[in-house]
Amino acid sequence: MPLRVYNTLTRQKEEFQTVEPGKVRMYVCGPTVYKPSHIGHMVGPVIFDTVKRFLTYLGYQVTWVVNITDVDDKLIVRARELGTTVKELAERMTADYLDCLKKLNVTGIDYMPRATEHIPEMIEIMRGLIAKGHAYASGGDVYFDVTSDPDYGKLCNRDPDQLEAGARIEVSDKKRNPGDFALWKASRPGEPSWDSPWGPGRPGWHIECSAMSMKLLGQTLDIHGGGLDLQFPHHENELAQSESYTGQPFVRYWMHNGLLKMGQTKMAGSIGNVVNIADLLEKHSAETVRLLLLSTHYRSPIEYSDERLAEVGRSLGHFYRFFERYQRICGRSFYELAAPTRHAPFDTGSPPSAFLNEVSRLRSTFLDCLSDDFNTGGAIGALYELLTALNRFADARQLEEPARREDAVAEFERGVRVLRELSSLLGLFHQPPESGGGDALVNQLMQLLIDLRAEARKAKNYAMADQIRQRLGQLGIILEDRPGGTGWRRG
Ligand SMILES: [Zn+2]
Repeated sequence: MPLRVYNTLTRQKEEFQTVEPGKVRMYVCGPTVYKPSHIGHMVGPVIFDTVKRFLTYLGYQVTWVVNITDVDDKLIVRARELGTTVKELAERMTADYLDCLKKLNVTGIDYMPRATEHIPEMIEIMRGLIAKGHAYASGGDVYFDVTSDPDYGKLCNRDPDQLEAGARIEVSDKKRNPGDFALWKASRPGEPSWDSPWGPGRPGWHIECSAMSMKLLGQTLDIHGGGLDLQFPHHENELAQSESYTGQPFVRYWMHNGLLKMGQTKMAGSIGNVVNIADLLEKHSAETVRLLLLSTHYRSPIEYSDERLAEVGRSLGHFYRFFERYQRICGRSFYELAAPTRHAPFDTGSPPSAFLNEVSRLRSTFLDCLSDDFNTGGAIGALYELLTALNRFADARQLEEPARREDAVAEFERGVRVLRELSSLLGLFHQPPESGGGDALVNQLMQLLIDLRAEARKAKNYAMADQIRQRLGQLGIILEDRPGGTGWRRG
């Protein structure tokens, strides 16, 4: 099935065609780094990481950019509260963001440009917009004139008057029209500032994304992603200023992900009901969080609750137990299986067995779901069905019995490889679960015992090291010395 993508601009699913054949240029709006990351900051990265994995699998060469907004009113206020500089705060919070991405296995980002490192590019665009009559300087600020762009409002499909009525518009007597937005703001004493033809100041938020995306990806991007809450004014303004500047279409496919909600309330920093990643990972594994974020279609709101996370954690446990079973049957770790990075047809063999036919059918269902506007929720459904089929086959053929048939084991192994292939597309199971079940305290205690055993061995106290292993064994916990260090699992 050819890939189809829902485009916010046209309000329909379209067949996916890139500007340059075989290449995808993708930009996703990143965080304003003034607070530690919360779960809402991870929705876009996890979804678009999965989008990149699938596009790569289909054979595209994908370049993915996520920006860092490291100058903004929020940063200035927060740095003042903390008695630090904007730069120090931005660096610390960027490190926190990167750490969260790593934990959630978001590995596909190619460039993370910082706004403060692209001021000259922003000034260049503003000069061009002023020269073309789309922007004007006023009292040290620079504004985009929304009446100069007949298309303004096309992303949200509303005319400018409706947009103004629906949004909080910053009132300023420096503006010509109430809907005009700032490209550049004159700085007040003590605020970070850069020199410009209009005096010292700093960029507005919208111009940052236009400058960084076009610098790294060219004038027309294939995909521009972001949360639904960014559609207006941020993306509408990005679109207006970019197209007014270049005269070219700015984006082929605008993709907007749904937001998290707790019960009937949306989760947002402004409401104060956000859950920090650090707190969340005390209770639930990173893999549980990733699977939760992918279990709904990306355009729908994601239900967030502790119970929902616990439920997802339990369903992951079925996979973990199956991987132990696979190890018993095939004598190797599921995590060592290589996942193919490119799509190829699945060979059911001839004559095809009923089992491999079923595997092939579920694989097609999974891939068709992702081809239908990246329906990860549907794909995950097919993954559970595949797990059930594998367990059923292992039961029916008694693969854990000594009298098993080796050709059945080989067939089973081929089915498991499909599970490896498909789960990798979702960024799941890249390493053994941190805690054998999702309890962070257990994980920390186990690490303590593993460290103590390693120290005992270093001090040549082998009796103590053996005793730790034996006593854990009595509790049903098996230590495994692997090349990268010692791991553990429940026996
Ligand atoms: Zn942006």
